[in-house]
Amino acid sequence: MKIHANDGISQSGVDALSDFGFTITTTNVAQEQLINYINENDISGILVRSATTVRKELIDACPDLKLIGRGGVGMDNIDVAYAREKGLHVINTPAASSSSVAELVFAHLFGAVRFLYDSNRNMPLEGDTKFKALKKSYSGGTELRGKTLGIIGFGRIGQATAKIALGLGMDVAAYDPFMGEATVTVDFFNRQSIDINIKTCSFEEVLVQSDFVTLHVPAQDKPTMGAAEIAKMKKGAGLINAARGGVVDEQALVNALESKHLSFAAIDTFVNEPTPAIKLLMHPSISLTPHIGAATNEAQDRIGTELAEQIKNLLG
Ligand code: NAD
Repeated sequence: MKIHANDGISQSGVDALSDFGFTITTTNVAQEQLINYINENDISGILVRSATTVRKELIDACPDLKLIGRGGVGMDNIDVAYAREKGLHVINTPAASSSSVAELVFAHLFGAVRFLYDSNRNMPLEGDTKFKALKKSYSGGTELRGKTLGIIGFGRIGQATAKIALGLGMDVAAYDPFMGEATVTVDFFNRQSIDINIKTCSFEEVLVQSDFVTLHVPAQDKPTMGAAEIAKMKKGAGLINAARGGVVDEQALVNALESKHLSFAAIDTFVNEPTPAIKLLMHPSISLTPHIGAATNEAQDRIGTELAEQIKNLLG
């Protein structure tokens, strides 16, 4: 049986699928050629990440397709309900990338409270001629310990983010309309662990209490953080979006940075990917990454082997 991974898959995933007896192809086929490719090559399963879409048209045109797999979490690029109605298996790997996204949030946070996003832009240009001036402008950083991290969306990634925050000695305030409380287990190297129960609070409480707010909600029809919500945040706070483009109103965010209501933002996911707004890319107070939350070797390995395992159970 043939499986085609159009947006790539880790070597560990390829190896596991081969061991289970599947033939796997990984050539990236252009979206408009994909229907032909699937039919001409008798593909039974198509695997995608976020780039390739699997819509109704493709599902209708490929009657022998049995499985659609998404390496990662959000399945907004797949017509999931329609595919399932047609009898296809639709699978993903919801937990595999949670800690990678959580660590990226902290990469941004640690960098932002010491102005690294700006220092890394200016040191190559002026580090040898204006060292003292740059030293002065990047003084006055802050520590994360003892600060409050506000987490909007307390699912897998929200809780993985809380775990790191708690380990650092931060306070956590979480909001999730569908989750009253959760027990977060903080693990240590020597196999000791501590369970900490966190009760969620209201959206408003999180906004007014937090020194930093990070979003971990699914894609939304309208921004979770618009001008009114940003206005409720503490003056000088920071906002992080490693969820989906559009969960933060990008113009409202830029306005809040310009007025100095917020001191920084960190963005991994943008409206209009892969051509994000220049006003965000050029903004001196934004720490930027190009949607790499799940892009660690460890997460990609887990995604590959978890997909292979599920495919073996469904089609093997
Ligand atoms: P999850 O389903 O485990 O958690 C999402 C949580 O958000 C749920 O508990 C849900 O109740 C809550 N929620 C829904 N609507 C809400 C709202 N309006 N306000 C507050 N909470 C709300 O999902 P997850 O695995 O934690 O992933 C969260 C999101 O992270 C994904 O949907 C995806 O968009 C994003 N993500 C980004 C990357 C990246 O590369 N940056 C990688 C993986 C996932």
